[in-house]
Amino acid sequence: MQLPCQKDYEFIEHTTSICPVCLRRVDAKIVRKNDGIFLLKFCPEHGEQQEIMEHDADYFLGRMQYTKPGTVSKIQTGRELGCPFDCGLCPDHEQHTCIAVMEVTNDCDLKCPVCYAESGSGDPLPLARISEMLDFFVDSEFGNAEILQISGGEPTTHPEILDIIRLARSKPIKYVMLNTNGLRLATDEAFVKELGEFVGGFEIYLQFDGFDESVYRHLRGRPLSEVKQQAVRNLAKHKIPVTLVSSIERGVNDHEIGRIVEFGIRTDGIRGINFQPVARFGRLPAMESSDRVTVTGIIGSITRQMNSMLKKEDFLPLPCNVDRVSITYLHKSKGSFVPLTRNLDIRKCLPAVKNTFRFDPEEFLQDLTDRASGSCQCCSDYLGALKDFSKFIPKSFYLKSRAEKIQYVSENTFRISITSFVDAHNFDMKSMQKECVHVITPDLRKIPFSAYNMFHRNRPR
Ligand code: SF4
Ligand code: SF4
Ligand SMILES: [Zn+2]
Repeated sequence: MQLPCQKDYEFIEHTTSICPVCLRRVDAKIVRKNDGIFLLKFCPEHGEQQEIMEHDADYFLGRMQYTKPGTVSKIQTGRELGCPFDCGLCPDHEQHTCIAVMEVTNDCDLKCPVCYAESGSGDPLPLARISEMLDFFVDSEFGNAEILQISGGEPTTHPEILDIIRLARSKPIKYVMLNTNGLRLATDEAFVKELGEFVGGFEIYLQFDGFDESVYRHLRGRPLSEVKQQAVRNLAKHKIPVTLVSSIERGVNDHEIGRIVEFGIRTDGIRGINFQPVARFGRLPAMESSDRVTVTGIIGSITRQMNSMLKKEDFLPLPCNVDRVSITYLHKSKGSFVPLTRNLDIRKCLPAVKNTFRFDPEEFLQDLTDRASGSCQCCSDYLGALKDFSKFIPKSFYLKSRAEKIQYVSENTFRISITSFVDAHNFDMKSMQKECVHVITPDLRKIPFSAYNMFHRNRPR
């Protein structure tokens, strides 16, 4: 064996990863090579492996300035086999449930090649079981549940979907989303009209991968561009807010990222976009590491494809999971959109930022005001942040009711987030344990979404 005489990387830190062939835990190093961050692993059986983690090393290395300790939630399992096999949540998990995903059916009217759930057919969950799962979610968060995503399969194929949403809205859960491929929304306007009853604390999370039919043929198995446009029109007609969720695959739709942002900003009713690099679980085969889309790869595409209307500095690591989520909020001002994050130094007011995706301006302002009342340095930092943030808010905002404030923010801001899930290739135990999107299982556990798709789906206890 010839030994290398010189390293071609800069060591950053150690972590624990997974061999994607045998799914054993393996030691790994996180290193910098040129502009990128890589994971170097060694499996005694399957040898050396290398995977790209981020395309922008500077963003990755700066992310820890934004991190916050996790929020506690109840645990359901003990330590037995070690992470990631003890889900969960087990005592080693470091973040509460910011988003609970509840798969109410495995049935679906599509059969997407990239489906994590490998959906197609399956029995819908009974309403009584769903009610138990909702109560479990609320209890596990000590009665303070944040966001619920009703998912599947395709949840609109569930015969009692309206009752499920009604039930969820009746529970102490702050925000409810319906995750859908949009087929029913495009073809059944009466159904869309019925969804109008839930507006306020409710929105549609619409699968939307771009515009070219080639994109949909590749990712979803059939052309769907017109279906998506019709779904958006129907939702706008009935004033139901929408977040677009785009799965991004290199060479398939990464050239349409900027166009998706432009479409979202300029279309009535669309409140935000969540980009998700396609992760390697479900029906997908493995891919070359060099083909992987990353959080910073998407930020780079947005800035290039939008002629620098947005800059990379406008995107900040989300404090609850700085490794895997990046976000910016745009404020609508005289017909154009200005990133809120451009003027506000969020690092100076991290304690006032909650571990959640849901941005509540009233809570945030109140927290800043409370913290800015002293005369020490951190109080003046909070005061500075309060002044910066207040520039975006008209005086009339303070006279509005709580519901009107939330509506004002919803209508005058636009959220772009990028969420990268962990698969066996890019597995880094630290970020796995910080994951805040949790699947609520019928046997009443909360399993982090990535671990669920890697190890626990179809393997109930
Ligand atoms: S992913 Fe979280 S819940 Fe699952 S085993 Fe690891 S620490 Fe425990
Ligand atoms: S990705 Fe969604 S729409 Fe596609 S098959 Fe899976 S559940 Fe159905
Ligand atoms: Zn191996």
